[in-house]
Amino acid sequence: MKVRNMSKSAAGTLDQPGRNVRAKSGLNRNILDQGWFEFRRQLDYKLQWSGGWLVAVPPRNTSRTCPACGHVSADNRRTQSQFHCVECGFEENADTVGAINVLRAGHARIACEVSDAIKSPAAGTHRSDSVAA
Ligand SMILES: [Zn+2]
Repeated sequence: MKVRNMSKSAAGTLDQPGRNVRAKSGLNRNILDQGWFEFRRQLDYKLQWSGGWLVAVPPRNTSRTCPACGHVSADNRRTQSQFHCVECGFEENADTVGAINVLRAGHARIACEVSDAIKSPAAGTHRSDSVAA
């Protein structure tokens, strides 16, 4: 998730003033107060403790990529909640599509680490010690 995007100001411009500016600024304060760094640190720690594995992936295009055909387009997301691929017609809940794409990105990253395609994992990710060569 990009916290900066989530907490973008609703103020707008002089020509096009934003709507619900006061409500959005309150929401922004809540988003920024949640301590995302601490949340991630705790998640990482607790996962290691229980034998889990935190893999951070770049969120880029995870909500715009069709899991069926791979077509990437902002037009695939005409509404906040619904995904409809303009290339192959695949339809699904947008959150489900995002989850599928994030999971695939994580699997790809793990595969690259195990095969040494990338040398050092990004901060917050861990190479498993139990993976057989
Ligand atoms: Zn598609």
